[in-house]
Amino acid sequence: MKNFLKIAAKIFTFALFVLFFTVEPTRALQIVYPKSPNTEVSAASTFFVGNTKPGSKLKINDKEVKVYENGSFVEVVPLKDGFNRIIIDSQNDTEHEVFTYIIKKVPKANLMVKEPETEDFAPNQYIYAAVVKENTPLRAQPDEFAQRITHLDKNTMLMLNGKKGDYYRVYLSPSKTAWVKAENIVNYSTITGKMLASATNVSLSEDKLYSYIRTDLSFPVPFRITETEKGLNVEVYNLKENAADTTVFKPCGIISSFAINSVAQDMTSTYYIELNSKLWGYSAYYEGNTLVIKIRKEPQIEANNPLNGIKIAVDAGHGGEDYGAIGPTGVKEKDINLSIAKKLQAELETLGAEVVMTRTDDTDIALKARPYIAQKEDALILLSIHANALSDGANPYEKHGTSTYYYNAQAVNLAKTLRDTLTKSLGTRDDGVCRYSLVLTRPTMPLSVLIEVAYMINPQEYAMLIDENFQQKAANAIAKALETYLLNSVNPA
Ligand SMILES: [Zn+2]
Repeated sequence: MKNFLKIAAKIFTFALFVLFFTVEPTRALQIVYPKSPNTEVSAASTFFVGNTKPGSKLKINDKEVKVYENGSFVEVVPLKDGFNRIIIDSQNDTEHEVFTYIIKKVPKANLMVKEPETEDFAPNQYIYAAVVKENTPLRAQPDEFAQRITHLDKNTMLMLNGKKGDYYRVYLSPSKTAWVKAENIVNYSTITGKMLASATNVSLSEDKLYSYIRTDLSFPVPFRITETEKGLNVEVYNLKENAADTTVFKPCGIISSFAINSVAQDMTSTYYIELNSKLWGYSAYYEGNTLVIKIRKEPQIEANNPLNGIKIAVDAGHGGEDYGAIGPTGVKEKDINLSIAKKLQAELETLGAEVVMTRTDDTDIALKARPYIAQKEDALILLSIHANALSDGANPYEKHGTSTYYYNAQAVNLAKTLRDTLTKSLGTRDDGVCRYSLVLTRPTMPLSVLIEVAYMINPQEYAMLIDENFQQKAANAIAKALETYLLNSVNPA
């Protein structure tokens, strides 16, 4: 009886299975982009990214579209104003599927909102405020996309002399102002006259990896650090005096020369820092009321084994809920990035490097936490691995290849070496070395470069990206580029 029930159950399951697959046959045609059959686009074209059964005949609005070996297709479709009816027709010996998409072309979002007026405070009237959020950007204009002048540590004291919308104008010197978002500060009081700090002591020191310049201040003031030909300049604002401006400093570690100008009417102390090598990363921050400028020393490398003992941070872009781009057959960028990152880790370790991974599995690590992981571990270089995509209006057959991104000048040669080595080794097109402000390119320590290995939505490059051999080749090329960079950049001992 028991056996009979078991057999009956099996037959029933089988019948359900047959029924299910007769009613709902598996679809050959899949469209991964646009994400929905009813989409609004504000560009002159969009593209259809997807896959069908290899060998199928595919038409989009009666135009024949190339289906690649693995079934991928990518087609740019021009859009007219208003509603666009787009019919995707896939046919092979056994199946004929037709999808209809309605794409509405809408005008570009109109950003002509009425600009708020700039409110100037009365002459010599300031609001005295403190920064409450770590790493608050100070911007050139009262706009969240405006250039970042510098970043402010929590507890930095600011003098505000105007307001526009959500932003306050920060007084740095008689000739310099910048803007901070109101939500990042807390206002204390309105005062008449300036509150200026004193620098009482400046000292140089070093340890194994870094040289330091410490400045004791009566309270934390805004500062700005910039790269120069020979090293760094630091402007310390809102000062009334710097007691160390006549001190003669001895070289210390990577610092070959250090001088401070006297605080003049501009209430600014400028530090001129010259180094005995190129820049290998720097940062500046407050420890209480002490401003610390921390400069990475040049690494010591072995000529025949340059990566031996060098610490490299590898960031596999995206992860978890954050997929990144999606390719024609549905593979997610986050998985490709992780696969290349792991191969890179293995290759670097084989070459003697120590590797810090921001993630080793499919988890979503907050973007801002990633550079911090590399900094905490004193990594010399941080590489973020990505695969590229485009927005509506672009053409993935015209724009593709390998590109690298940097932000600080100290990282440009690393970005170039990576681009050169990757394009040569992979045979991909040179898609450029770009200066771009990103969470993974902005860090001044470690040296940071973001790599876009190739494009997810170019069918040929996508086929390469999902191929383990190509991923290994990319990992090897990145490791090779790091070796070349170290050999070319480190002064011979
Ligand atoms: Zn990405």
